[in-house]
Amino acid sequence: MKPAAARPRWTESSTAGWAARLAQRAAERAAAGLRRRLLAAERQAPGRIRIDGVERIDFGSNDYLGLAHDPRLAEHLAAAARRHGLGAGAARLLGGHGHAHAELEEALAEWLGAERVLLFSTGYHAALGVLGALLERGDVAVQDKLNHACLLDGARLAGAELRRYPHLDLDGAERQLARPTPGLRLLVTESVFGMDGDRAPLAELRALANRHAAWLLVDEAHALGVLGPDGAGAAAGLDVPIRMATLGKALGSFGALIAGDRALIEHLIDHARTFVYTTALPPAWAEATRHAVVLARTESWRRRHLEDLIERFRDGARALELPLAPSSTAIQPLLVGSARAALSLAERLRAAGFHVPAIRPPTVPPGTARLRINLSAAHAETDVDALLAALAAAWSDALRLR
Ligand SMILES: *Cc1c(COP(=O)(O)O)cnc(C)c1O
Repeated sequence: MKPAAARPRWTESSTAGWAARLAQRAAERAAAGLRRRLLAAERQAPGRIRIDGVERIDFGSNDYLGLAHDPRLAEHLAAAARRHGLGAGAARLLGGHGHAHAELEEALAEWLGAERVLLFSTGYHAALGVLGALLERGDVAVQDKLNHACLLDGARLAGAELRRYPHLDLDGAERQLARPTPGLRLLVTESVFGMDGDRAPLAELRALANRHAAWLLVDEAHALGVLGPDGAGAAAGLDVPIRMATLGKALGSFGALIAGDRALIEHLIDHARTFVYTTALPPAWAEATRHAVVLARTESWRRRHLEDLIERFRDGARALELPLAPSSTAIQPLLVGSARAALSLAERLRAAGFHVPAIRPPTVPPGTARLRINLSAAHAETDVDALLAALAAAWSDALRLR
């Protein structure tokens, strides 16, 4: 949140100034219903979450294919850890790189139809790394207003000019691309938006980028494994020069990737600071993730089951006249409005045995707090039916708080 004009200015050089500032900020967030709380949770079974000793049906994870708890992958990880140990022990360029990393990168490149892939520790690292390595002062990054924080931060950190356009607005994107710049242009979008579940018009954005001599970067965090042929992503076959994805969502693992041509990846190996100056992904993790790629590609029943669940949820929510969002993906937000009402609704669902996170500002714009329901192939049809019944019971109460 932006500092308000009425706030005191903290000019003391003593530590009391810092403590007072923190107390003030905490009070402001509490008054707005925006304090965040860490919940100690255990996810031991697919589609289930245990919080405070109580098991609930989990509609809050990004484990879209239900792979995070696949016992075959846990076995691969354990076997690989016996060979490689716990950690890589060094950065990739200083001895931390091994065959496990190379093989995972090749498997991912083949899946995505890219010349090469480079692994990063997280999606956040990948975004900061690729944007920092490409953008120079004078360049411009044109971004959808609802892009993930790491994409916006990456452009800012690079010192490039950040131009945003209204969500999914092609004309807005074109206007921002058309404005003069002394440098180069990069158009950046998610393929599936994480808080809304809607999809970017990638073919149109690709054409737009071409018309303005811009490169296009597509973040496939919520699409890899879920959309496209064999789950290869929403941008599969679209000849997008830079693709990014996390391995922590549908693949059920950890880590991230940038995919592109040889020249791009070699540039990143030289220049991406979040690649160069950080410990390599544990090799055991890389090895287990390669098996997750095989499962994600070949067990296509997971994608079909997920699609059936999405349709089932939307049909049921429509019948209940719940405020469905225009989303055809596994992310099904229900707009509530105030942070307080969203929290109260999440609490009601919690008491009824469901984990459904309330998403509040600043993660989403003020006044658009929501429940974010994430569906997964780990769910049974009866899980979705039970959630709909609980929503039917809780929703009208929440409206009074709106
Ligand atoms: C989750 C996410 C990331 C970050 O990926 P991590 O591997 O969790 O750091 C980046 N971009 C988008 C769009 C995401 O949803």
